[in-house]
Amino acid sequence: MPTLVVGSATARPGAKVSGFLHVPHAADPGAEIPVTIVAGADPGPVLALIAGTHGSEPSPIVALQRVRAELDPAVLRGTVIIVQIANVPSFAHRTIYRGPWDQKNLNRVFPGSPHGTASERIAHAITTQVIDQCEYLVDMHSGDGNEALRPYSYWNNLGVDGRVDATAREMALAFGLDHIVVDRGRPRDLNATLFCSNTAHARGKPAVTTEAGGVGVPTEDMVALNARGAFRVMRYLGMLPGPRDMLEHAVWIEPSEVLTSPATGLWYPAVHPDQYVAKGAPFGHLTDYFGETIAEVRAPMAGIVLYVVASPAMGEGEPLGMVGAVSTGP
Ligand SMILES: [Zn+2]
Repeated sequence: MPTLVVGSATARPGAKVSGFLHVPHAADPGAEIPVTIVAGADPGPVLALIAGTHGSEPSPIVALQRVRAELDPAVLRGTVIIVQIANVPSFAHRTIYRGPWDQKNLNRVFPGSPHGTASERIAHAITTQVIDQCEYLVDMHSGDGNEALRPYSYWNNLGVDGRVDATAREMALAFGLDHIVVDRGRPRDLNATLFCSNTAHARGKPAVTTEAGGVGVPTEDMVALNARGAFRVMRYLGMLPGPRDMLEHAVWIEPSEVLTSPATGLWYPAVHPDQYVAKGAPFGHLTDYFGETIAEVRAPMAGIVLYVVASPAMGEGEPLGMVGAVSTGP
């Protein structure tokens, strides 16, 4: 098995090595992205686990610290590339959604560019050094710092390669979050794949996006759920000994819709995650800065509240939450 190099980390078989992906300084600041390679003694699949694509989503970030500590290269088949915090500027500067320098959402600028702004250069480094070197990928999110969320995964049914879609579906079942949103709308243009996981998926590498945790707090149950999911995917891929543990009763969600704010002001949610809402039911309302109501927001469909913004600050066009209908399953 060849020696794998990711940024400054070089791992021979049987080794666990950490280092940094170097993102050069340009018109705005660069970054040093912490990565770990766990190279199994025996050859096998290459799995990338990425946390912190949004820097204020700490449950997966803390979980991947645990995975790094617990994963033993002596019993691993293949290689795990861990990106500990993909959007390290967003993490360090405590921003939600967007990077601090360019105000761009890292998870909307893939595959990135070496000549672009900070977020685009980070995306380029991850695409060329992590995605191009892996065979499977899990991009691990949670509700952002302002979002309360019930755990779910996205199954990217891209429709380009049936094998890739089918394997990604199984990876979602292996990760084990019991609600799975079916997503058929991700872009297929390799130069504008936008999302981290879709960048892998469109390149023929089965990938899932997971969501577990929220409101900027890494609770023990959500950290454990993220770490458990990572190990379950490794067992699904035959990288670790032990039986495959697959979700038997997934709740498939399709269609789903992200609600966006009609105005800037203060957001008062009327729902909580995991709540079932009827079509047209109150979802929340917005006031101006004085407390006068300026908009009422209603559920666009009957379904489950997957996440909802839990704090008042709200800008026009920003997400308010997400509702999805329970489907019979793909
Ligand atoms: Zn996220």
